Amino acid sequence: MRKKIVAGNWKMNKNLQEGVALATELNQVLTAEKPNCKVIICTPFIHLAPVSNIIDHSIIELGAENCADKASGAFTGEVSAEMVKSTGAEYVILGHSERREYYNETPEILKEKVDLALANGLKVIFCIGESLAQREANEQNAVVKAELEGSVFHLSAEAFSNIVIAYEPIWAIGTGKTATSDQAEEIHAYIRSIIAEKYGNDVAENTSILYGGSCKASNAPELFSKKDIDGGLIGGASLKTADFKGIIDAWK
Ligand code: PEP
Repeated sequence: MRKKIVAGNWKMNKNLQEGVALATELNQVLTAEKPNCKVIICTPFIHLAPVSNIIDHSIIELGAENCADKASGAFTGEVSAEMVKSTGAEYVILGHSERREYYNETPEILKEKVDLALANGLKVIFCIGESLAQREANEQNAVVKAELEGSVFHLSAEAFSNIVIAYEPIWAIGTGKTATSDQAEEIHAYIRSIIAEKYGNDVAENTSILYGGSCKASNAPELFSKKDIDGGLIGGASLKTADFKGIIDAWK
């Protein structure tokens, strides 16, 4: 059975003290009332090691928001997958639309990052999703297919079992506009069907596909009730314990 997941993406928010305080509070709340799903928090690099030391990894897993496309060496300012792993993190987000758009991360670069993350024992939350113009031109299926083919469909079925997919329509990220649950389910089912074409039904049925884009406590139950939506990747609403917990509780 595939896993139900609620993952937070803090993005470039919270200084070190604020991030540690948020993780400490979330850890206390979820230790007192165990979640009914896997919970992951993905933080800026500076938070990884201290947060790793204070969370109970059997309740909250930890991820980075990025890693380098090179293994090591003279790449000033970069942080490698091996470094991320050495903090105690278990996951890394790759392919986020903000990285693709603002930092020119191409499918080829992302493929290198995916390979390095997996080679260093990290699991990958791989983001895909179309822009508003692509949705209006009804190109969303072609876009997500090309994104998967460009960066993760070269993997063996065994390696692919370490990939979580996050479908994030760019027009819904941070905009307050959410895809309707039917719109999201339609494309999640399509994504699962192309995973099945590539790797077979068993792999497709075991792949968690998360929805991301203005997900909050009020719309999470409806979204998560859909057959092919296995949880959420949460930006803004992961920055306050009560908001994030409200989404986690959608699985209760
Ligand atoms: C995201 O950027 O991954 C995201 C889903 O953001 P938000 O929840 O703020 O729309």
